[in-house]
Amino acid sequence: MTAEQRVLIEAQDVIGFEFECPHCNGRFFVPIGNFDMIRTACPNCREQWFKVQGGADHLLVNDVLDGFKRLVKIDAPLGVKIKFQISEGALNGCERKTGSTEKGSN
Ligand SMILES: [Zn+2]
Repeated sequence: MTAEQRVLIEAQDVIGFEFECPHCNGRFFVPIGNFDMIRTACPNCREQWFKVQGGADHLLVNDVLDGFKRLVKIDAPLGVKIKFQISEGALNGCERKTGSTEKGSN
C-alpha cells in the first residue's frame, strides 16, 4: 500500500502576507484585507526591496498579491474550488531559506 499525503489550502485560509527583509530579517505582517501595495523599501532598515516603484518586478508582486486578495474577497461562489498545494516541508516548519538566518521581529 502506498500512502500519499497532500497538503492543500484554500485561498480563504490565507489571512495575510508576511514580508521579510533579507537585509535586517525584520518581518512585517499585513492582514490580507489591509493589503494595498507592497512597499519598495524595508520600513525598518530602509533597504530597497525593489529598485523602481512601478517597475516590472514590483508590479508583478503587487498584481499577484492584489489578485489573491480579490480572490479571497470574491462574493459569489465560483464554479470551481481552487486549492493551493503546499509542500510537506513547509508544513513541518522547514521554510525554504534564501540564505539569511532566522531572526524576525514584529
Ligand atoms: Zn530591513
